[in-house]
Amino acid sequence: MTQIPSAAVPADAGTRPAIEPIGILVAPHPVLRRKTRLVGPDDRAMLRDVLPRMFEAMYQAPGIGLAAPQVGIDLRFCIVDLHENDVREPIVLINPEIVAESEQLAAREEGCLSLPGQYAEVVRPEGVTVRFEDETGAAREIKADGLLATCFQHEIDHLDGILFVDHLSALKRNMIMRRLAKEMKAKG
Ligand SMILES: [Zn+2]
Repeated sequence: MTQIPSAAVPADAGTRPAIEPIGILVAPHPVLRRKTRLVGPDDRAMLRDVLPRMFEAMYQAPGIGLAAPQVGIDLRFCIVDLHENDVREPIVLINPEIVAESEQLAAREEGCLSLPGQYAEVVRPEGVTVRFEDETGAAREIKADGLLATCFQHEIDHLDGILFVDHLSALKRNMIMRRLAKEMKAKG
């Protein structure tokens, strides 16, 4: 997920060790529409290898969330880091599920690294509780509201092949998809 772009530059920009960022797929790539399969014990080694490259791609973009299908991986995991006030708080969510959501809804402007430059207001539950495993395999649960809740829902949607534009009217969704296609074509 992305937010409205700002001019902020990470405090440690340019001083990090070089990690090759993984490439991010752009809609309407078919992989973005596939439901992922659960991460199993045999997938852990691959995750250890790919997670640093996913974080690197997300920080460089910059974004605040990135899901496995966006980098062409058919597995149920995603990463999130709001890095508010330039403080990094990376969260790895493996096999996440939303186990509770608030009745109260909130509208928030969303963007997506797979729909670069496109933003729209999306209505979702204001708060959610997410159950997942962390990168060590430990079971965890986080109760989130505000931007973190929006980000969790946006990323978990990706694991089910859902994009934020699917929460909009068909008219608005088609408008955004056409604009994206046009802009990507112009970029070459
Ligand atoms: Zn996204």
